[in-house]
Amino acid sequence: SDPERDRLIQAYEWSAKFYHYLLKNTEHGTAAMEYLRSRNFSDKMIDQFQIGYAPDRWDTLLQFLEKRNFDLAEMERGGLLSARGEGKGYIDRFRGRVIFPISNRTGKVIAFAGRVLGEGQPKYLNSPESKLFNKSRILYNLHQSKASIRKTRQIVLFEGYGDVISAWDAGVHNGVATMGTSLTENHMAIMKSMADEIVLSYDGDRAGQAAAMKAIPLLEGNGLRVKIALLPSGMDPDEFVSRYGGDRFREQVIESAVSTVKFKLIYLKKNHILLEEDGKIAYAKEAIEIIAMLHSSTEREVYLREIASELDLSYDSLKQDCNLLRASMQ
Ligand code: ATP
Ligand code: MN
Ligand code: MN
Ligand code: MN
Repeated sequence: SDPERDRLIQAYEWSAKFYHYLLKNTEHGTAAMEYLRSRNFSDKMIDQFQIGYAPDRWDTLLQFLEKRNFDLAEMERGGLLSARGEGKGYIDRFRGRVIFPISNRTGKVIAFAGRVLGEGQPKYLNSPESKLFNKSRILYNLHQSKASIRKTRQIVLFEGYGDVISAWDAGVHNGVATMGTSLTENHMAIMKSMADEIVLSYDGDRAGQAAAMKAIPLLEGNGLRVKIALLPSGMDPDEFVSRYGGDRFREQVIESAVSTVKFKLIYLKKNHILLEEDGKIAYAKEAIEIIAMLHSSTEREVYLREIASELDLSYDSLKQDCNLLRASMQ
């Protein structure tokens, strides 16, 4: 064992409790509490995810750690403190931010994500990589979701902390998120060891949809089945739950997740102006390229018929092009 690692784990555990206490029970936390309520975070979720608040001062956590005789240089390496710009000494790393503790698979807090109240840059400030925290190996909330994941053999993958929390409140207990990074081989190995199916529930904006397009071949390449949860454009899962409630989120978003082919066709369609002949032909051609990859002729027929009626073309001509393409692929 590594004593510095053990001390850091202790420091994170106590700091998480301290920030959670400050949020819930002191005047320092009033504005943050109002902010969280304005976003419809329930008290239950604030407790379950141990959400906290780091006051907008230089030395709140510094004093807390000093009193408990932690080595401050060690705490700086672990990302709880920052070195002071000029001269010696340390200051709190997280100031004026809502704290989302990040735990490893066994439930030990190993890092924080701190969100500004409202607008401000950077929106999220994370703990740096440390002895404890390697973000390419961590899936947020895996410690709480692993039981449900093992039972359902399914993982719902989100982009953000708020999405995971709102989804949990809505009854989706197999959700995790990456730390604002793209999927790594490590993430996929973890998921593959616990589940057979991934429901991608990324943001309904351009960035989120592009990220889903990138994630599909990676996940499928690792032998995972993939479905895509669709959201109204520009909305993320957290906003959907706030606006329409948990029941609608579960039924209309998660349980209605579509096949990757369906998603690719929807995604593709956005790049073409179907009212123009050129756009219509280009869309049909690219759609056929996606559909031609399907092994099942039944599936091919289903999608080709959809495209045909959508573009007001004959199923026969689409089928013919699709078969020609398949023959050339042999
Ligand atoms: P919120 O709902 O609080 O505004 P979000 O989760 O919807 O946040 P997005 O902008 O959609 O935020 O980003 C998705 C995820 O990407 C975040 O949850 C966070 O993990 C990560 N992220 C976003 N901005 C930053 C940043 N400036 N630094 C580090 N990570 C970030
Ligand atoms: Mn986003
Ligand atoms: Mn988002
Ligand atoms: Mn959001």
